[in-house]
Amino acid sequence: MHTPTPGLPEFDYIRPTSLAEASQFLAQHAGEARPFMGGTDTFVRLRAGFWKERYLLDVKNLAGMDEVTFDPATGLTIGASVNMNRVIAVPAVKAYYPVLAEAAQTVASYQLRTRATLAGNICNASPAGDTIGPCLVLDALLRIHGLDGLRQEPLRTFFLGPGRTVLKPGDIVTAVVLPVPPDPYAAKYIKLGRNALGDLAIVGVTALGYADPSAPSGYRFRLALASVAPTPLVPSQAEAILAEAPISEATITAAAQAAMAACTPIDDVRSSARYRRLMVRNLTQKALTEVWEQIRRQ
Ligand SMILES: Cc1cc2nc3c(=O)[nH]c(=O)nc-3n(C[C@H](O)[C@H](O)[C@H](O)COP(=O)(O)OP(=O)(O)OC[C@H]3O[C@@H](n4cnc5c(N)ncnc54)[C@H](O)[C@@H]3O)c2cc1C
Repeated sequence: MHTPTPGLPEFDYIRPTSLAEASQFLAQHAGEARPFMGGTDTFVRLRAGFWKERYLLDVKNLAGMDEVTFDPATGLTIGASVNMNRVIAVPAVKAYYPVLAEAAQTVASYQLRTRATLAGNICNASPAGDTIGPCLVLDALLRIHGLDGLRQEPLRTFFLGPGRTVLKPGDIVTAVVLPVPPDPYAAKYIKLGRNALGDLAIVGVTALGYADPSAPSGYRFRLALASVAPTPLVPSQAEAILAEAPISEATITAAAQAAMAACTPIDDVRSSARYRRLMVRNLTQKALTEVWEQIRRQ
């Protein structure tokens, strides 16, 4: 039987004219005000009755929020209001960060991606967010405007729990910054969903690898796992195995086992925890094998 949702509650739509004004408003109304971008998470949660904010701040038109800039020396900066379809189409993403486009392409549908943003996917802090893994392995930084002005924080330490981040009242993410990646490198995102399109990941695995003479194995790999822990997960033990032991099928298998051991998944409507664990092992093995085959040829 269809259970009706409470419906969209009443709220005030606020359109600040500067970041300073927006941060101040958010801090003054902590707990009852929220910034939004595409609104594809925000309005669903409001309508379902999970969130009850009195004020919604539309900050997507503030200066610089829709800009994308690439500098070969410093990397790529993607403004917080840039939607997923635009991220996919950016020439520098295709050339230097294709794994981000690969993951963004798996988010919902083309229509939804015209609203959904990269910053929104990250700030929503769902362990299932598809673009978070690629941003983690690409060592992303978040540019944040708060009461004390602008600062930058690493994505690696951003997540505290499901829906919880280090953002403080008044904080607004203004851009996602991707540093220049290793050259050359290879990366892969594998998403397992219940259907081909438009569903959150049962498991998502991102792997990135590159030659590094300072590592005992001669290579470094970075891994990120989606939907298998309260936050997006970096299985550092698996990364360490790949840095230490010469890369072989056995080393990759050991790393995939370590990735599985790092997970603390839950049973939910999409999958059992057991299936998630096994899929992490299998898909990590697959992603690492593909990345390894590419980098050994580079
Ligand atoms: C039908 C449907 C299918 C979906 N499928 C997928 C999927 O396959 N994969 C996936 O990963 N996601 C999926 N989602 C979730 C959602 O579309 C994504 O998480 C999207 O990227 C969110 O971006 P947004 O701009 O719409 O975020 P919003 O709803 O605007 O914001 C999301 C959260 O981030 C906060 N926030 C937004 N911008 C900022 C900012 N600049 N500073 C600080 N906080 C901010 C908001 O307060 C809110 O808490 C789906 C959603 C729907 C409705």
